[in-house]
Amino acid sequence: MTDLQPVDDPQQIAVVGGGMAGMLAALLLARDGHRVTVFERDDTDLPDTADEAFDGWDRRGAPHARQSHALLARLRRILNERAPDVLEMLAEQGATELTLERILPPDMEDRAPRPGDDELVLWCCRRLTIEWVLRKVVTAEPGVSWRRGVGVSGLVADGTDVRGIRLDDGTEVSADLVVVGGGRNSPVMEWIAELGGDVQPTEEQSEAGIVYLSRFYRLREGRELPLLTEKGGGGDLGYLGFAGFYGDNGTFSITLGIPTGDRELMKLREPAAWEAAVRTLTPLDPWTEDGLADPITDVEAMARLTNRIRRFVIDGVPVATGLVAIGDAAITTNPWYGKGCSQAGIAAEALSAALREHGRDRTALALAMDEAMRTELEPHYVVSCMQDADRTKLHEAGHAGTEPDPAAAAGRDFILHGLLPATRVDPDVFRKFFRSFNMLDRPDALFTDPVVMERASAALATKDERPPLPRLGPERDELLAIASAASN
Ligand SMILES: Cc1cc2nc3c(=O)[nH]c(=O)nc-3n(C[C@H](O)[C@H](O)[C@H](O)COP(=O)(O)OP(=O)(O)OC[C@H]3O[C@@H](n4cnc5c(N)ncnc54)[C@H](O)[C@@H]3O)c2cc1C
Repeated sequence: MTDLQPVDDPQQIAVVGGGMAGMLAALLLARDGHRVTVFERDDTDLPDTADEAFDGWDRRGAPHARQSHALLARLRRILNERAPDVLEMLAEQGATELTLERILPPDMEDRAPRPGDDELVLWCCRRLTIEWVLRKVVTAEPGVSWRRGVGVSGLVADGTDVRGIRLDDGTEVSADLVVVGGGRNSPVMEWIAELGGDVQPTEEQSEAGIVYLSRFYRLREGRELPLLTEKGGGGDLGYLGFAGFYGDNGTFSITLGIPTGDRELMKLREPAAWEAAVRTLTPLDPWTEDGLADPITDVEAMARLTNRIRRFVIDGVPVATGLVAIGDAAITTNPWYGKGCSQAGIAAEALSAALREHGRDRTALALAMDEAMRTELEPHYVVSCMQDADRTKLHEAGHAGTEPDPAAAAGRDFILHGLLPATRVDPDVFRKFFRSFNMLDRPDALFTDPVVMERASAALATKDERPPLPRLGPERDELLAIASAASN
């Protein structure tokens, strides 16, 4: 754990929203010595156990809370340094810890540990389990007051200098700093507009291009899920992506990413169609084996997924001072890449550091958060947009039977036949890929690394010498036929 001393001049901080970003910020800032009040609109008791949370906790403010989540190594590093008690409690709750030695590809001959491997650890659990654990820790934290069932409806400000918040019932609460973590539907842009400043925040947004379909399962007594096998735990058929997610307490989930607008594939929401369809996906064979597990949810769909970035400093001028937006209120990326909770953690960590450095210098604080956003988060956003745009182009060309976009096709070839094969046999490439995917390095670190590029290019050049890639599942029409037959 990092040994940070409490700040000399603690501030009174109001956090809007007690989701992942709000809780992570509240925890780190309270441990820095600040006095934090979290305002969470959802007015529901914390269930007694994580299992009960999954079964019945009303988290209408976070409608994606019953969708598959994985916690990348970047968030795990932040928690390990700043809140190891959260990881301990996650372990007690039966979360799955995927250390590097557990996920090294089976074909890898050189399995010797390397310096830095201790960072390469993912945690897998249901989203409501990490929420439940964090809520327990945060609400017990001295320095945090938790006000549940209290919605925030706007800002209280002197011009564009924010001095507090206005609650739904009209009460005003003053604060030295307002941290807006209200999630992807946060009205922070309207709140800033209402201040009437000359400079307004900007927003850039693009469709992720997929709809999430997820179903959770519980392992039967005495059964276990195998660790990642040579087949992996997911894949991409072009018209559909799929992945298995390890969970906690004997649970796991399967998620399909279906192109937005493909109404026929949306029929997989029907449980019998779903079960038949997921059994056609060969990397999931160990996850769908008869007698392994029973479903514990319906098939839950989640649409309107976007990549979105908001900028709160324009041409060097903060749109407001005394206000910081974090988590999905500031930046979202396609959930398929699993970055959202880590993005929330990175912002919380950056805010803690910025407050240490700049204290009550409110302009410097806004500029420091903007810098952190640009250097730490924006590169991941950019890559997410590029991947989604390429996947959508390739999918549309496949659907229309037209020639694919050459750059997108070349990129896919490089990944499928160069980079991924290299990760399976080369311990250095695997680690660099893992670091980038898990946000421990910037994404461009991977594609500008001479070793990675050389070995991935060599693998691409010899692709015809390897057996063709295995078929991961049926063609779309075949899958639809199997699914319809099952649901009739
Ligand atoms: C389908 C899906 C799958 C995902 N999978 C992953 C994954 O595998 N890994 C990963 O890291 N991330 C994943 N994410 C992203 C991750 O869930 C989000 O990035 C994360 O929840 C953002 O946290 P947040 O606090 O910003 O928002 P949320 O967690 O949505 O929380 C917002 C909170 O603010 C409260 N609130 C909102 N407005 C107000 C108000 N005015 N007053 C008071 N309270 C308010 C809400 O009630 C809610 O509790 C996924 C997202 C989706 C949609």
